[in-house]
Amino acid sequence: MTVTIRILSPSEHCLSRSDVDPDALRILARLQRMGFIAYLCGGAVRDLLLGRTPKDFDIVTNARPGQIKKRFANVFIIGRRFRLCHVHFPGGKIIEVATFRRDLSAEEQAAPPGKIPPELLYGTPRDDAFRRDVAINALYYNARTEEVIDYAGGLEDLARKRVRIIGDPAARFAEDAVRIWRVVRYAARLGFDIEEETARAIPVFAPLLGKCSGARLYEELNKELIEKTRPVVDALRARGLLRHIIGSFGEDYESDDALYERLRALLEAKDRLQKEGVAWSREEAYALFFWPWAESFFAGKDGDVRTVLEKAFESAGLQAVFPRKVRTDVAHILTLVSQIMTVFRTGRPRWSLRRQALFESAVRIYGVIEAGRPPEPGAFPEKLFGRPRPSSGEPEPEAERTRRPRRRRRRKPRPPKAE
Ligand code: ATP
Ligand code: MG
Repeated sequence: MTVTIRILSPSEHCLSRSDVDPDALRILARLQRMGFIAYLCGGAVRDLLLGRTPKDFDIVTNARPGQIKKRFANVFIIGRRFRLCHVHFPGGKIIEVATFRRDLSAEEQAAPPGKIPPELLYGTPRDDAFRRDVAINALYYNARTEEVIDYAGGLEDLARKRVRIIGDPAARFAEDAVRIWRVVRYAARLGFDIEEETARAIPVFAPLLGKCSGARLYEELNKELIEKTRPVVDALRARGLLRHIIGSFGEDYESDDALYERLRALLEAKDRLQKEGVAWSREEAYALFFWPWAESFFAGKDGDVRTVLEKAFESAGLQAVFPRKVRTDVAHILTLVSQIMTVFRTGRPRWSLRRQALFESAVRIYGVIEAGRPPEPGAFPEKLFGRPRPSSGEPEPEAERTRRPRRRRRRKPRPPKAE
């Protein structure tokens, strides 16, 4: 394959050094002073060229992880198959520094994981560009010369506002179907089109998405909920991909327009509030995501609905594998939301709800469902829900402590000693 490298001089692009994180610049400068090649790469270059704020500033270099660890403080090597470095900074900031890598050939991939020598995984800058998913992610920035380097036609795609898989889409999707999701995500987030050949391969390979590792699918779903969610979920639904990620929940969201409209409104509210600075825990975001489905599930059910709901989660055929704790917490929040609704509907108090661990999360979700935002503190009437829990450190109010006297356990009479 002939590759034309395109290099833009500083005057030919809008990426300015001052837009780059100063710690990332320091790492780049140090690596280059030591004689290594080092570039800013991936999402950061793409986003800066689009005038957007990058989520993180990843670096690639020809220095090996061991060499980086020796030369920098606070470096942690992560990854089992492909090792890369995390440079830690005060305040929790982490900058990822990876070594240029290459795609393995089919034979090389067939080797058992432990048998692949690490050397084989490293490559040239060109290899590194071509192993990436889409062309707009295969751009590099040399902070010293201030040049942008394009191996795979990413600049043209940015100008044409399109997302295109590098290489043959069929082969790249067959190799890793998560790339289908990533293509759809970038197009929805950036408001780009999906290039024709890439788009044609999506429905053909979509069923493979559900066969990817459940842990990976869960990680990708987390990414969706952390950022602006609604446009991407809309796009996943439009292409029939939700069913390959969240099993029968996805099928229901795809086939039932009214049900999906309710989800859409909640995601829209979540995204809007997030933009205003409201933070959501992972469990809360998932509770919103599953609420429209859970609401119809709860209809007409009584008794121990939480356990039944947890069972329903287990049998929904979710391809994304949720950690058990997340699953049970989400089921707990959803049950509490439904119980809060019953209290308001019937006017029958239930003080015990307020004492439950995830009550505050349920209140926030209830607020979004009913009014498009979490309620103001104190909006929950004491008459129905009892007094708010004292914040940690404060003594519990007397009334709360004395309301329920502890029951004394009766001792079993001891059997008479055998003589
Ligand atoms: P974001 O702004 O959402 O972080 P990103 O492009 O940086 O977007 P990451 O998930 O952080 O996305 O991945 C970093 C880079 O790794 C991507 O830009 C892409 O080049 C590459 N990459 C990630 N997943 C794959 C994959 N499945 N196949 C090929 N390349 C991938
Ligand atoms: Mg990234």
